[in-house]
Amino acid sequence: MTVAEPAHVVILGGGIFGTSAAAQLARKDVRVTLVTESALASGASGRSLAWLNAAWNWPAPYFAIRMAGIDRWRTWATRHADAARYLRFTGGLMWADEADGESLRDLFATERERGYDAQWVGRDRIAEVAPGVDPAAVAEEGAIFNPGEGWVDLPSVIALLAEEVVSRGGSVLERAGTSRPIVEHGRAVGVRTAGGEEVRGDAVLLATGPSVPGQLSELGIEIGTSSPPAFVAFTAPVDTALDTTLNTPHVAIRRTVDGGLAMDSGWSERSIEVREDGSLHIPDAVVTRLLDEARRVLAGHPHLQLARIGSGYKPVPADGEPVYGRIDEVPGLYVAFSHSGATQGLIAGELLADEIATGSVSPLLSAFRPGRFASPA
Ligand SMILES: Cc1cc2nc3c(=O)[nH]c(=O)nc-3n(C[C@H](O)[C@H](O)[C@H](O)COP(=O)(O)OP(=O)(O)OC[C@H]3O[C@@H](n4cnc5c(N)ncnc54)[C@H](O)[C@@H]3O)c2cc1C
Repeated sequence: MTVAEPAHVVILGGGIFGTSAAAQLARKDVRVTLVTESALASGASGRSLAWLNAAWNWPAPYFAIRMAGIDRWRTWATRHADAARYLRFTGGLMWADEADGESLRDLFATERERGYDAQWVGRDRIAEVAPGVDPAAVAEEGAIFNPGEGWVDLPSVIALLAEEVVSRGGSVLERAGTSRPIVEHGRAVGVRTAGGEEVRGDAVLLATGPSVPGQLSELGIEIGTSSPPAFVAFTAPVDTALDTTLNTPHVAIRRTVDGGLAMDSGWSERSIEVREDGSLHIPDAVVTRLLDEARRVLAGHPHLQLARIGSGYKPVPADGEPVYGRIDEVPGLYVAFSHSGATQGLIAGELLADEIATGSVSPLLSAFRPGRFASPA
């Protein structure tokens, strides 16, 4: 379908999806206004492990968009002179929980079949491919090393994307409070800020991370969500040679721009307590154990000092796969809601901008339409 190009698109949410789509629209000379509740990158994008990958046994469409996502980050890396500060393709290392009898041999075979760059490395080669890792911490069977993977500091990228939006004539409205799409006569016509200011436009992109399903529900549209509470622990700078992203049975780790480490894990995420008032409480013992798990896998077992915790809900659709594109029931309204938004941030923004500007849907997005959650009539 082709539509008249919107003259003004209002984007709600200053995370990676919102800013990426805003910059792409601005590059097409579409006027954009980005509205966000607090500072840019104050949501999931500011507390993400941000491991760039297409690992695991994903269905083919999800694998394809993740690979395209990595491709766009590589292009970004070659076009931004100081990108190495916040975006690195230093590979990913993953090993199984042998105490639980797990093995990564099947996953390795799948990755190789798909053409994903995967190498099987024994403990004797760990120091060569992933300096800074203690080989003794690695499973006896060895590990998968994916040299094409990397990590990104999303707040650095979001700041650059927002600068680009402004330099191309767009506007960025931070600290607008809890804002909502305005729907009139069944059509999205802008965004109303917490203070009642109305930003009117011809199309609205809802990119409010874990808040997307609740905001759509207010409009009578249900998309399934299973966004869990999550946290990432950030350490002070650490003296370690580690620059490979690690995905180990009890902790996942990457470097940070200031020379520290960022880490999370499934078990620590499940230990978060949700209090009656809805606030999240992370027991000290959980943080201490997470830091210990990280220390254990690092060569020399350096002391790790907690610098800060980033906590909040992780955007995850109910079926685990992205939700991108037009809301059929509300003309003019579009949505971006997904986990792995670090990996997909640039490609999703690019393809959503194409859809909003032209009405045509990339085949890469066709498996991820919001309409799949609609109940059959
Ligand atoms: C712990 C954790 C680990 C992760 N690890 C990885 C990983 O290894 N690899 C990977 O690819 N991805 C990972 N992700 C996922 C990735 O970080 C997210 O998918 C991505 O950041 C989502 O971006 P977003 O723009 O949708 O949302 P957000 O970054 O949450 O941005 C939404 C913005 O909207 C604003 N907002 C919300 N509601 C309103 C409102 N009503 N009015 C105005 N503004 C509003 C928020 O303040 C926020 O700034 C991880 C996420 C978490 C939390």
